[in-house]
Amino acid sequence: MSVASPESVVVSAATPSPRFVPASIGRPGRVQVAQILDPNFCVLDHAAERVVAIEDVSHRGTPDCVQVPTMTDDLYSAFELYSQLYSDPTANDPRLRVAAVTVTDGSREAYLTPDMTDETADELIAFAMRMKEMARVARLAIATAA
Ligand SMILES: [Zn+2]
Repeated sequence: MSVASPESVVVSAATPSPRFVPASIGRPGRVQVAQILDPNFCVLDHAAERVVAIEDVSHRGTPDCVQVPTMTDDLYSAFELYSQLYSDPTANDPRLRVAAVTVTDGSREAYLTPDMTDETADELIAFAMRMKEMARVARLAIATAA
C-alpha cells in the first residue's frame, strides 16, 4: 500500500494553474479531439478515456487508500477506503465544479467540501488514536492470559 504523505499532497495542490489537454469526445467512429481545461490535480488521460459528450468529462486525482486487514484472511483485506480529488465542471452542484474530495468503499461514493474533508480527517485521526488504545488493551489482555 502506498500512501502519499501530507507534504506531497500540499506540494501538488500548490501547483498553480490548470492546463489545456486533449480529450476524446464522441461516439465510436465520430470521435473528435478537443482541448479541455484540466485541473492540476487530475491524473486521468482524457485523450485515452473517451466520453460521449464534453459534459461527461470529470477530473480525478491520484487515489489514496487505507486497507483494514483481518486475521481470518491472509489474502484479502476486510475493508478498503479510497479518497481522491475530484471535479465535475458541469455538475449541477456548484461545489463539485472546481474541486472536492471523494471517499468511497467501492459501493458508495461520498463527496466532501474542503471543510468536510478536514472535519472527517480529524475524526479519523481521533478514531485511529482510540484504535491504538484498543490495541494496547488487547495486547495487555493477551499477555495477562498467557
Ligand atoms: Zn482531468
